[in-house]
Amino acid sequence: MADLYGWIRADLESLHRVGWYRTMRTHNGLAGPQMDVDGKPVLQFASNDYLGLSGDARLIEAACRAVRLYGAGATGSRLLSGEREVHCELERALAGWKGCDDCLVFSSGYLANLGTIPALVGKRDLVVGDEYNHACLRGGAELSGAVHRLYPHSDCSALESLLIEQRERHRRCLICTDSVFSMDGDLVDLARIAGLARRYECMLLVDEAHATGVLGPTGAGAVEQLGLTRSLVQMGTLSKALGSQGGYVCGSAELVDYLRNRARSFVYTTGLAPAATAAALVAVHIARTETSRRTLLRQNIDRLRAGIDEIGIAQLPGDAAILCLRVGNIETTQRFAGELFDAGIFAPAIRPPTVPTSRIRLSLMATHTEAMIDTLIAALTKVSSGFACS
Ligand code: PMP
Repeated sequence: MADLYGWIRADLESLHRVGWYRTMRTHNGLAGPQMDVDGKPVLQFASNDYLGLSGDARLIEAACRAVRLYGAGATGSRLLSGEREVHCELERALAGWKGCDDCLVFSSGYLANLGTIPALVGKRDLVVGDEYNHACLRGGAELSGAVHRLYPHSDCSALESLLIEQRERHRRCLICTDSVFSMDGDLVDLARIAGLARRYECMLLVDEAHATGVLGPTGAGAVEQLGLTRSLVQMGTLSKALGSQGGYVCGSAELVDYLRNRARSFVYTTGLAPAATAAALVAVHIARTETSRRTLLRQNIDRLRAGIDEIGIAQLPGDAAILCLRVGNIETTQRFAGELFDAGIFAPAIRPPTVPTSRIRLSLMATHTEAMIDTLIAALTKVSSGFACS
């Protein structure tokens, strides 16, 4: 009999061959800067929990209360049986924070983009995106059936050339970009992109996954930092600085009303679990009001960047809580991450196909202490001395 699934084995073997095969490590203990990874106590530098809220007692209490009040799951699409008061409260809080009329919460950030982009554009339209855009922006663009064109990373002149060449051939155009790039940590020139969007009559979707809670006077993101809020589609996740789970899109009342009816990943999926919703609601309040968390995070970023400069390891430019180190090819980067792990530091090697070039990705939290940052710097000094990267 034909082996209908034999191709899977061949594909897995090819992943192994080129060093792209991925494995998972089990992280135990309350989310925070110190955790057990595969049974070994380590300092955690791989978490997106930038404000250190995931293990915060107030989020945990809110989640438990919501489970007792509503049950473990939402039981259906929010358009059928899944709508709870806490969903509306969270959407009001997010919209207020982001300076928008309204907001729609999805079951994840990934699903927010996968639903929103195909709702906004279709076959007669154009999506233009940065080549380093997150997979869900690219996935949403592909799903939409629109012509999807990428421009070189952060190259606004190339974006403009694409718009000059392509814009008039299409009915609608949507520009999509991360504000802080997830695997590089750098910030896009949003003011310039917003200017191009206006000039060439394009909609603009900004993915604030790694900027929310981190950038802007009240932590509302890069959009807030630049004083841009109107006429944008502001997308983000509840799963990083907000310490919970889920995604959202904020914008005009009409946009949100439309997405509630047209975004398939909202319409046809179960509403966000009450526990995650209630925890995120508390997190929005904390992220807005406890500004000291952002100050501590900024101090940690500055301390680590200065320490790495002193060691002399090449770091990618960045403005947020993600720091990437270039230490060599796939194999070298993996070995470097392994030696850091042996030294009690969890900082993963990020490799192709996720990124074009391998790197060690460090993410910081407000709850890392100065002593923890110094332990990381000492480990980087020791490990890098055995590699040709400093
Ligand atoms: N956008 C970006 C830029 C991200 O980095 C991520 C998560 N890695 C997402 C969207 C997806 O968010 P979520 O984890 O909530 O699905």
